[in-house]
Amino acid sequence: MAKPKVATTSLAGCFGCHMSLLDIDEKVLKLVELVDFDKSPINDIKEFTGRCAVGLIEGGCANEENVRVLQSFREHCDILVSVGDCATMGGIPALRNMIPLTECLAEAYLKGPSVHNPSGQVPNDPEIPLMLDKVYPSHEVVKIDYFLPGCPPSADTLWQALLALLSDRPVDLPYELIKYD
Ligand code: SF4
Repeated sequence: MAKPKVATTSLAGCFGCHMSLLDIDEKVLKLVELVDFDKSPINDIKEFTGRCAVGLIEGGCANEENVRVLQSFREHCDILVSVGDCATMGGIPALRNMIPLTECLAEAYLKGPSVHNPSGQVPNDPEIPLMLDKVYPSHEVVKIDYFLPGCPPSADTLWQALLALLSDRPVDLPYELIKYD
């Protein structure tokens, strides 16, 4: 019988949530028995190869490419999960939301103390995805079915949530996996 497929992506994130998923240690062997990974930085598959049962989203949307990728995950995945604080609320990248984008770009490319930019140009190659006016959490762009906050959520949190989703059980995580004090 074909195994369910899981896809993952890192949008405006740091890959720490992916590292946490890999931290399930020896259970990773069980995971590959249970699922096939589709599009994911874990296997470097760049495009979807079919319908996925679960999509794990790390990071919010900071640029137009993030939006395109997130929309494509919504299109290809039955269940979409926001993994980590960046996906669920913008996280560290969203600190820029308090400052207009033009000021952020000026600080990064024109005025910052370590900037050397004699041309005085902000990078504008068409290959570079356009920045959004602010960083958006994933659920403000597409419908998200589940949220796993934490920076990052622990390996156990991810493992137990994934097991529940794959076996069609409610995601009813014990308190110690969802408290952050
Ligand atoms: S939630 Fe934390 S670990 Fe996950 S991508 Fe954001 S900063 Fe990295």
